[in-house]
Amino acid sequence: MSSEQHTTPGNGVGPGTDFDAIVVGAGFSGLYMLHRLRNTLGLSVRVFEAADDVGGTWYWNRYPGARCDSESYFYSFSDRLSEDLLQEWTWSERFAAQPEILRYLQHVADRFDLRRDIQFDTRVTSADYDEATNRWGISTDDGGWVTATFLITAVGCLSAVNLPNFEGRDSFRGEQYHTARWPHEGVDFTGKRVAVIGTGATAVQAIPEIAEQAAHVYVLQRTPNYDIAGRNGPLSEEYVRETKATYNEIWQRTRETSFGFPYDAPERPALSVPEEERQRIYETAWAQGGFRIGLTFNDLLTDPAANETASEFVRDQIRARVRDTEVAELLAPKDHPFFTKRPPLENGYYETFNRDNVTLVDVRRSPIEEITPTGVRTRDAEYEVDAIVFATGFDAMTGMLFNMGIAGRGGVALREKWAEGPRTYLGVATHGFPNLFMITGPQSPSVLSNMPVSIEQHVDWIADCIKYMREHKLDKIEPLPEAEDDWVDHHNAVTQATLLPMANSWWVGANIPGKPRNLYPYVGGVGNYRKICAEVAAHGYDGFGMAKYGKTSVTGTRPASRFPVKTARAVIG
Ligand code: FAD
Ligand code: NAP
Repeated sequence: MSSEQHTTPGNGVGPGTDFDAIVVGAGFSGLYMLHRLRNTLGLSVRVFEAADDVGGTWYWNRYPGARCDSESYFYSFSDRLSEDLLQEWTWSERFAAQPEILRYLQHVADRFDLRRDIQFDTRVTSADYDEATNRWGISTDDGGWVTATFLITAVGCLSAVNLPNFEGRDSFRGEQYHTARWPHEGVDFTGKRVAVIGTGATAVQAIPEIAEQAAHVYVLQRTPNYDIAGRNGPLSEEYVRETKATYNEIWQRTRETSFGFPYDAPERPALSVPEEERQRIYETAWAQGGFRIGLTFNDLLTDPAANETASEFVRDQIRARVRDTEVAELLAPKDHPFFTKRPPLENGYYETFNRDNVTLVDVRRSPIEEITPTGVRTRDAEYEVDAIVFATGFDAMTGMLFNMGIAGRGGVALREKWAEGPRTYLGVATHGFPNLFMITGPQSPSVLSNMPVSIEQHVDWIADCIKYMREHKLDKIEPLPEAEDDWVDHHNAVTQATLLPMANSWWVGANIPGKPRNLYPYVGGVGNYRKICAEVAAHGYDGFGMAKYGKTSVTGTRPASRFPVKTARAVIG
């Protein structure tokens, strides 16, 4: 491996076309990966980023109201990056808004001197593994071509935009925006009639803000969600002081819990307590705000009857806040159990429907048929508008990986290998694609967790693995097919023991026509998953084949029964 340094400052990054590692993406994942590989291990690394700055999600999603749903104090890098930064950085709100999170990531890039190895405005268009040289050849949209031993994707689970191909979309004469490609200068909706398509987490944040400005907002809802009260607000000095004083403990807990939040794990099934007590427990969690309501009982994701008690609780909250009973019933989900689609956090969303300038349109009953030059036509009506906002989400988890044109041994495209759905070992690597690591890849906890916790775990694991390889003079790693089969079986068994397959969510790929229906993230829990990965590493990366410098054939051992097919209760709890 070369350890030539590339140190020219600025976007022009240093000279050289051969690197130890190429990282694609400069959000949370890419920044921390670069730091670990270059600053800690001394590797030569280049990061390619399609945007003109760092930030990833927080660079692209500038729609009004955009903010995190994980609490700011643990939606950040932990002490793994820097204890000093944790003490020095002070978040202003419980759920920080997009500009503040972007400023934080820009600060991280500057503080750890990361920009000099990031090539901005450059999209990776193909990545091909060459068996003869054991190197990846990577092409970029500026005509560039580089090679590297390791290819590490930090492309994000939610960065490939889904813009449904509505008939007539191009004929629309007004303004159109996708929330994840929002103009940097902002949009003024004053006096305008606006159609918002979608009611996911993005729309739920944007709609109340747009409604404050616009003359009229038509909210085109296909599926209502169980939106949870966020209860955002400024943070008191006392809270900040206490959090900073106990930060190490907080981070440790995030790493051990199921979803990467430092909340107590529920221990009781919902139906084991009398109804009145259950109701009190839900009310307390609701009053606290955020995702705590999902962590009230330990069987909400596995027992339909238990789940129904939580579902009905949320429906009642909606009914209590929306004045028009018909509108309230339309907003109250009945077609899927609570938390089987990602519940948005809301701050005033439901009250928006009490405004005179907001109309809820049921496009489940009367689907959108076309976009016309002047608006949106559903089966039953036409809505004349000046602007259309597509809050239609993402081709999640695999979209960006496929768009990168990754081809492994023998020229097999990743898209082809995963035609029936992803097949990975631990969600971090896949057989046939040596030296490819995927940060928060499919079949890892990823989007079913507070993501910085999962990102850090993956980055640290990958960096440690590369360090191990260098120490043992190994330069090729690839999952054994039988280890991959075991992981996929385990992933599927855990999935099937939950209620998650019951909903048509993006978690199962249902939002993209033709996308194979699988649960894309791993629901076995952040803490359990971390243990499994740590054990794999402790046993010399069993389940992976590795080769010495200059050798092509890999050798390795299939892990014992490190991840047996357990029941979800045991795994998820
Ligand atoms: P990203 O931030 O998505 O960055 C990936 C980068 O890769 C992008 O900048 C993209 O331009 C670049 N890229 C992709 N393909 C290429 C290519 N071929 N060539 C060059 N560059 C490429 N998660 C939480 O846990 N809590 C939250 O509160 C939360 N809020 C969110 C709010 C929104 C609006 C969205 C969309 C997501 C949210 N998420 C949240 C998920 C969020 O995506 C992650 O928390 C985190 O930001 C992901 O970081 P990342 O670096 O892995 O990916
Ligand atoms: P999303 O959850 O996929 O929502 C997309 C919306 O568009 C859905 O309501 C969907 O309806 C609708 N839609 C899509 N195609 C449609 C069509 N052809 N006709 C009518 N409606 C259509 O996307 P998102 O809201 O951008 O959120 C995606 C994820 O990003 C979230 O789940 C979350 O993980 C993350 N996110 C997080 C935050 C946060 O934490 N603060 C904020 C925003 C986003 P159906 O439901 O019927 O498919």
